[in-house]
Amino acid sequence: MSLKNNRRHLPWVGAAVLVLAGCGGGEGGASPTVADEGPPLVVATTSILGDIAANVAGDEAQIEVLMPPGADPHTIQASAADAARVREADLVLAIGLGIEAPLASLLDSARAEGVDIVELAPQLDPIPFALADVHADEDDLGDEGDEGDVEDHAGEDDHDEQPPATEDPHVWFDPIRMSDGVQLLGEEFERRLGPGAWQERAADYRSELLAVHEDIGALTAAVPPERRVLVTNHEAIGYFASRYDFELAGTIIPGGTTDATPSSAAFAELARLVEDRELPAIFAENTANDTLAQALAREVGRDVEVVTLYSDGLGASGTGAETYLDLLRTNAGLIADALATS
Ligand SMILES: [Zn+2]
Repeated sequence: MSLKNNRRHLPWVGAAVLVLAGCGGGEGGASPTVADEGPPLVVATTSILGDIAANVAGDEAQIEVLMPPGADPHTIQASAADAARVREADLVLAIGLGIEAPLASLLDSARAEGVDIVELAPQLDPIPFALADVHADEDDLGDEGDEGDVEDHAGEDDHDEQPPATEDPHVWFDPIRMSDGVQLLGEEFERRLGPGAWQERAADYRSELLAVHEDIGALTAAVPPERRVLVTNHEAIGYFASRYDFELAGTIIPGGTTDATPSSAAFAELARLVEDRELPAIFAENTANDTLAQALAREVGRDVEVVTLYSDGLGASGTGAETYLDLLRTNAGLIADALATS
């Protein structure tokens, strides 16, 4: 595609790698055709997705990640450099289902310009948010007086009593679903980037991921049923709860994103829940500050541990969550340690 020629504008060292991997010296000048022969450029939105893609790509594609470890995909804004990378990409990988909300217009316009974009979460049998339903009910109560409007729009909307539940984009917290996602990536790379050992690497990585699933089961086995209760900063780990038989009892931030604020009534209710159910810990996350979680712990009036999980982005160097597989294992260990003891 003609967009490949634009790779020459990439400002970083990777451009040199492309040249070296290309035709071994080229014509001596800065001919755009040299870059054309380098490995394809795959741009991933989040650090977790970038790590998964890198495992499938091996040396056969160059992976660029828009969001650094620890970045919050719900709120991070795209830079001009991000926009350029997306437009130069041979393939863009996104989670989808609205999680990259600040990138939506960039991705939409890139798609309209012909950039190939694959969104993973919609293809992995997503589940609805468990708690966003509750918030939707509360919102509906406020709209009860607008019956006339509902009838006015009856011809263009479906007749559900409430809007369909929003699907949860945080699919990476279910290794089984994501193992299907890995296989899908292998197939998509093959189809969109040409022949390569994509599917072989995908199969190997899928096996590693399924082994991590077994590890998570073993790690969390020590948590008795009555303690398998989670209160988290935002609704990020519904897939974990669903897969490993935990109850997601509450979130501090409502609505499935991090871009919202709890009401004081909801906050007090959550504190009562933590108290009534005698939860030993609540869970903050690396991609958001823990101010609200710390405040909730203080509100409860007894010792409640605030444990930071690695949720929507990889951990920084030294955290034990620098890769997707390590992130899954580390989170499971943190949850098990917090809930199984004391
Ligand atoms: Zn999230």
